[in-house]
Amino acid sequence: MKYYSTNNLAPKVSLKEAVLSGYAPDMGLYIPERLPVIPSAFIRNMAGMSLQEISYAVANTLFGADIPSEVLHDIVYSTVNFDIPLQHLHDNVFALELFHGPSLNFKDVGTRFMARLLSHLRGSDNRTINIITATSGGSGGAIANGYYDVPGVHVYVLFPHNKLSKTLESQFTTLGKNITPIEINGSYNDCQDLVRTAFADSSLTSKMRITSANSINIARLLPQTFYYFYAYAQLSARMQSVQEVSFAIPCGNLGNLVSAVISKKMGLPTKKIIAATGPNCSLSQFLSSGFFNSFEAGRSIMPAMDVATPNNLPRLLPLFNNSLADLNNCLSTQSITEAQSVESIRKVYHEYNYILDPHSATAYYALTSSIYKDEVGIITATAHPAKSKRVIDHILNTDIDTPAALTFDNTRKCHVIKLPAIYSHLRNLLLTDA
Ligand SMILES: *Cc1c(COP(=O)(O)O)cnc(C)c1O
Repeated sequence: MKYYSTNNLAPKVSLKEAVLSGYAPDMGLYIPERLPVIPSAFIRNMAGMSLQEISYAVANTLFGADIPSEVLHDIVYSTVNFDIPLQHLHDNVFALELFHGPSLNFKDVGTRFMARLLSHLRGSDNRTINIITATSGGSGGAIANGYYDVPGVHVYVLFPHNKLSKTLESQFTTLGKNITPIEINGSYNDCQDLVRTAFADSSLTSKMRITSANSINIARLLPQTFYYFYAYAQLSARMQSVQEVSFAIPCGNLGNLVSAVISKKMGLPTKKIIAATGPNCSLSQFLSSGFFNSFEAGRSIMPAMDVATPNNLPRLLPLFNNSLADLNNCLSTQSITEAQSVESIRKVYHEYNYILDPHSATAYYALTSSIYKDEVGIITATAHPAKSKRVIDHILNTDIDTPAALTFDNTRKCHVIKLPAIYSHLRNLLLTDA
């Protein structure tokens, strides 16, 4: 399979090149030149299949021509070695719990897949692969966990000063070894800009090999289709009559959303895809006009959604042959306030005895305010509520348990490097380190 750049100014490349470079040379994002369709007979038969079986089948249609099947089998089975259960909340509303991986965040799926794929694609090449990535909270832990101690890969995680909770920070600041956390004296947007500047700096990329581990990288994005198919399989096992399902997704950089769109294009019976965004996101402006302005995102109890200019926005129109009308037929969006997220957390806890994390709660709000009673809807529950323990305990007046994965040893040393939000400082650091 070949991958083309959304900017259409760079040649099509192989899977290996797309994964190793992250961005295309024209700074566009890669998209598969054709999305293979999963046969409907297979989809009808998924009800009794396991997460690994379904994931492997989907992976095989996407990557089968490029990765030997026994390697792909290993990658898939060691990536999704935790469950992704579908919880019934009430009526026809379900939550797909994507937070049972090591960092308790949905990004574990894409990150673990990409780390393993990268090791395979690197082969016997001795040059270090440097991953430079920005996090507003959610991805840092998943990335550090996924790449920790992976031979030949060094990770630089940029994060904004004073924006993340200590628990979230410690997931990637206390590891050391090949994980270098860099605290930027600026916002998450500044961190993203620094990363984009590094990728566009040919005097840097000619000296060191860099790639991205966030959802701009197709190796992070495409494996997220696995769980959409598995969600449908679990639904079919419970409700024989189900035809189409709607998904509501808490959005930041739109990686999870684009994976839902790709799943639909690969044949998953999907009715609506509902994007719940934070208050300052440019998505609704983009859907109505095809253009967007860059805002400065505020700071909310949904830190992973405090993204003003989502990284994956440039993928949306090309996936619909640049038809804004077709894009709008597939997607709707609703911007959700912090107060609406809090309202959903309270309602779902008091009425259905289930605790949503603040991100997943925005999807619940958007879903229940936009589907009809007879429609079936699934929210993607993207993080374990204990990752926002202080917020949840405050809202619900509870003392929820902290899973072992989130308890960290206070005596462990932090390895943080502090930098101003000025590119030359980052560049110097990378070049000295390399
Ligand atoms: C990253 C993240 C999101 C947003 O996902 P995108 O793919 O960036 O849109 C939502 N919720 C949580 C908990 C996250 O960590």
